[in-house]
Amino acid sequence: MIPVNEPRLGPEELENVVDCIRTGWISSAGRYLEKFEADWARACGVRHGVAVCNGTAALQISVEALRLEPGDEVILPTFTIISCAMAIVKAGAVPVVVDSDPRTWGMNVEAIADRITPRTRAIMPVHMYGHPVDMDPILELARRHGLRVLEDAAEVHGAEYLSGRATPQPTWRRCGGLGDLATFSFYANKLITTGEGGMVVTDDDEIAGRLRGLRNLCFRPPRRFYHTELGYNFRMTNLQAAIGVAQVARLDSIVARKREIAHRYSRRLARIGALQLPHEEPWARSVYWVYGVVLDDRLPFDAEEFARRLAAKGVETRPFFLGMHEQPALHAHGLPARPAGEFPVAERLARRGLYLPAGLAITDAQIDQVCEAVESIIDA
Ligand SMILES: *Cc1c(COP(=O)(O)O)cnc(C)c1O
Repeated sequence: MIPVNEPRLGPEELENVVDCIRTGWISSAGRYLEKFEADWARACGVRHGVAVCNGTAALQISVEALRLEPGDEVILPTFTIISCAMAIVKAGAVPVVVDSDPRTWGMNVEAIADRITPRTRAIMPVHMYGHPVDMDPILELARRHGLRVLEDAAEVHGAEYLSGRATPQPTWRRCGGLGDLATFSFYANKLITTGEGGMVVTDDDEIAGRLRGLRNLCFRPPRRFYHTELGYNFRMTNLQAAIGVAQVARLDSIVARKREIAHRYSRRLARIGALQLPHEEPWARSVYWVYGVVLDDRLPFDAEEFARRLAAKGVETRPFFLGMHEQPALHAHGLPARPAGEFPVAERLARRGLYLPAGLAITDAQIDQVCEAVESIIDA
């Protein structure tokens, strides 16, 4: 079986981890943690990095750091992972969802304005599968309505966005440095991994302070064990950060290889008209976190059946997300069940989309093997 994702860990990761063990710095303090936070914040073009135990925890403390009141609303795409909506619900706020863009699969930016109400406090764009969301219109809406922008950048380590393209001086900027704050995951299948792990990055001193408190039980000077707020233990370990430091140093080559993998797939699969392939806007430099394909409606089988047929040929895949408006767990939290068809793009992606093996450990020969399997199923 060709695995859908296999991480690649090098001798530098090993050396750093061994160093932690030799020196005894295995808990949530140590030089690798400090370096990882500083290095990743710098890579995103901001000043603060707050490392946590996973990307879901990063989202949770980020939404809490916005100090929302019960009934406040946060706008996000329906097509995403449950972590996003869950963070909003657990903070006592209401998730308000929009459909996806049919080409980039990210949030449909044009649908946001209509969903803004007097209770809206924030917008949560989720950069999807390696491709940035079109941030300029979101930042402009946020400015006009006094909203916070929280990027979920868990799938776009190193991706770039052409900011200000309507101005005389557009500039390429990293995802994660565009909104007020941004969250990352360093789960094993992400571009940069620490096994499990996450981080919030921000340029805002006050938000950074709140995040550091929330991550660590809201311990506050001057009296340890005296608390005025409730937090969590969401700390990352120095051991995890030691892996992260080695990974971040290789960011450019990791991104280059991910783009190469995607281009190899696209060159070969482009001739199959019945497959929609990952798209890259002129204002985006995608990192192709995964290589997603969407089956044309003409094909007589759905993604689930396609996955079964690929598995029979030794190719492991993963299904696309299922929209938040289709999640029973959220029906009592502001997203009641509604008739199908309200978010047609997301509903279609969920049923016609899957992603192919594209982890950093994949070889060109394996990519070709996957393409052969895909062709033999579609052409059959
Ligand atoms: C992976 C991911 C997360 C969650 O990260 P974990 O580290 O698995 O908790 C959140 N948002 C998006 C978009 C993701 O892809």
